Amino acid sequence: MPTRQRLLVVDDQRLDRAIAGHAATRLGFQVTNAGNIGETREHLERGDRFDFVVLDLSLGAEDGLEVLPLIARFNPSAVLVLASGFDGRILAASQRLASSLGLLVAGVLRKPILPTALQRLLRETPHIQVTGGVADLPIPPEQIHAAIVSGQIQPRFQAKISLTTGVVVGAEALARWVRADGISIPPNTFIPIVEQSGLVGALTDSILDQSLLACSRWRQKRPDCSVAVNISPLLLNDPGLTDRIERTLQKHHVPPAALVLEITESNGIPDTPCAMEILTRLRIRGVNLSVDDFGTGHSTLLSLVRMPFNEIKIDQAFVREAVTDRDCKTVVRASASLGRELGLNVVAEGVETEATAALVQEAGCHVGQGWLYGRAVPADIFQASLGDLPESADTEIAERAM
Ligand code: C2E
Ligand code: MG
Ligand code: MG
Repeated sequence: MPTRQRLLVVDDQRLDRAIAGHAATRLGFQVTNAGNIGETREHLERGDRFDFVVLDLSLGAEDGLEVLPLIARFNPSAVLVLASGFDGRILAASQRLASSLGLLVAGVLRKPILPTALQRLLRETPHIQVTGGVADLPIPPEQIHAAIVSGQIQPRFQAKISLTTGVVVGAEALARWVRADGISIPPNTFIPIVEQSGLVGALTDSILDQSLLACSRWRQKRPDCSVAVNISPLLLNDPGLTDRIERTLQKHHVPPAALVLEITESNGIPDTPCAMEILTRLRIRGVNLSVDDFGTGHSTLLSLVRMPFNEIKIDQAFVREAVTDRDCKTVVRASASLGRELGLNVVAEGVETEATAALVQEAGCHVGQGWLYGRAVPADIFQASLGDLPESADTEIAERAM
C-alpha cells in the first residue's frame, strides 16, 4: 500500500491551520500542525519528516522566514507552499530566499488560503518520494562512492528546446541516485556531500561517460543533438580534467561541439590560472561552456568577459517569476540582451508555462528548458521522445552549430 504523503502546516491562526489541514486531508494527506517556530523545531528535531510544508510567513510576533533554515537543515526534501497576506513582492522575495537555501517551492498563496488553490498545488507538484525521510539523513561518503562505482548514480535527461523552431536541440544530464529499492534521491541531497568529500571527480567522470554514451545513441537518430553536463567549479582546480573529457568524447565518438559543460556560478567561478587554462583548452577543442544559474553569483560579469564561455543559462528563479514579477522580467530581458550582445547562446531554464515560454522568446532567449517541455527522464525514454527533425529546422540548426 502506498505510504500517505505527510504535510506540515505552520500557521499561528488556528482557523487557517484547520482550513489548510482539511483541504489536504481530503486529498489523503496525513496532516501535522505547528502554531509557532518552537513547535516546528520540535517536530523537525525529533525526526518527523514531511513531504510538504505549508508555511505562513507571518507567525504572529514571529518571523515565518526563520522556519526556512530549519527545513533546509532537517527536512530539505520537503516541498514548500508559502502563504501570506503580504504583497507579491515580499512573497516573491521569500520564495527566492527558500530557493537559495536549496528548497523547492511549489507555489505561493495569498491568505486567506483558498482550499481549492492549495489542493491544486499539492496535486500538481509531484514530490520525489523519499518515504521515511531517508534522504534527509546525512549520507556517509563511502556509501555515495559505492553508488557511483556500482552505477546507481545515473543521469536523467531534460530536453532543451529551440524557441524559434520548437525542436529539441539537446538535453541536460541531471544526476539521480537510483537506489536498489527504487527510491530516487535528488542531487541536492548528495552533491554537497560529494563536493565536500573529494568525490566530485569520480561522480562527474561517471555522469559524463553515461551521458556521452546516451548522446552517441540519440545522435544516430538526430545528429544535431547535444548533451549538457554539470561541472562543479571545484573541478576547475583539476588539471587532468581536460584530457579526461577528451578521452571520453573519443571513446563514444561524440564531437566536442555536441558537449556543453554547465558551470554553476552561484558559488563563484574560480578566477585562477588553472581554471582559465582548463576552460580555454576545452573551448579551443570545441566544447561549449555555459554559465549555469546566471544572475545568482557574484562574479558573473567578470567571468563572462574574462573566460571563454559561449552560453548563459538564465537562472530559473528569475524565469519562473518573470510573468508575474516585473523585476524578474527586467532581469530576464536584460540578461538575454546582454547575452546576445556578447554573442552567446542564451538559455532560459525553469520554463513552466506557455506564458513564460512566450516571454523568454520575446526577450530574445534562443533555447528554453523546463517542465513545460518535460521533466528529466532516463536516456531511453528521452531517445524515444525524439521525433524526426522537421526540414524547416535544418537551416537554423546549421546556422547555430557551434
Ligand atoms: P541545475 O543545473 O541548474 O539544473 C536545473 C534544476 O532545475 C534541475 O534540478 C531540474 O530538474 C530543475 N528544473 C528544470 N526545469 C524546471 C522547471 O521548469 N521548474 C522547476 N521548478 N525546476 C526545474 P535537479 O535535477 O534537482 O538538479 C539540481 C542541481 O543539482 C542542478 O541545478 C545542478 O546544479 C546540480 N546537479 C545535477 N546533476 C549534477 C551533476 O551531475 N554534477 C554536478 N556537479 N551537479 C549536478
Ligand atoms: Mg545545469
Ligand atoms: Mg541552473
